Amino acid sequence: MLKYILPKAAAKAVSDVVTALFNRAKARFLGKTYKATEIQIGYITKPLEHREDLSLPGIFDSAAKAEGVTNPNEKLRQSCIDIASQYFDAHLEATKAQVLNAVQSYLHESQTSGTVDPDKELKEALESVVEKAASNIKTVTENETTRGKNLGSIDAILRMAAVDGVQDPLIYFSGPSDSHTCNECLRMFFMPDRITPRVWRMSELSHAYHVRGADRPSICSGHPNCRHFIVSILPGYGFSGGSLKFIAPDYDILKDQRG
Ligand SMILES: [Zn+2]
Ligand SMILES: [Zn+2]
Repeated sequence: MLKYILPKAAAKAVSDVVTALFNRAKARFLGKTYKATEIQIGYITKPLEHREDLSLPGIFDSAAKAEGVTNPNEKLRQSCIDIASQYFDAHLEATKAQVLNAVQSYLHESQTSGTVDPDKELKEALESVVEKAASNIKTVTENETTRGKNLGSIDAILRMAAVDGVQDPLIYFSGPSDSHTCNECLRMFFMPDRITPRVWRMSELSHAYHVRGADRPSICSGHPNCRHFIVSILPGYGFSGGSLKFIAPDYDILKDQRG
């Protein structure tokens, strides 16, 4: 019989650590309405700092500002925060399950392999718990940063376009085409020359996370750490050597790119 079953108290302790890590990330990223719980685990001793410019609301507002809108859409900004919060919660539950499973497996292994040192094994398992939670938090934060930035831009682009009577404005994903640009970003965001940005109708964008091989891009850009972000392209504009350029008043870039 397995004698070293993770006691309930230990399981709760593990869950609490993971929850605290996620709450801390939420408070930092989503703003002051999310309370961080105090945690005391070894190397995490820094006090919680909230920087508006690195938070989701701040990123949303500055993207809207970059498109020329100074009174960002409160409702959309809040829905952005709510979506991100839900992703954090979903990942929190998944992470808790993963880490409890990992800790229990460590203990079983240490018992069945005969080299039993449960304390050492548990310490290692807990370290990997923290690493796993941190990496899941990083993924959510990166994806939601991109979504917030792009949604701030999209809202501003739609409002500016409405003023001009444009229903479905054109956009492209601005960002580098260099040796670090992955094939998926090249495929979605650039023409076959790999220099000229590819233009999309706003209505064509997917609202889910991008899936490799999809036939249209996502408002979350390509992937975590993607360096490509939505910007508007005004009627009459096109590209020359990859840079935005006014071509002619009746120039239609979409027609030019799609024939
Ligand atoms: Zn990429
Ligand atoms: Zn990219």
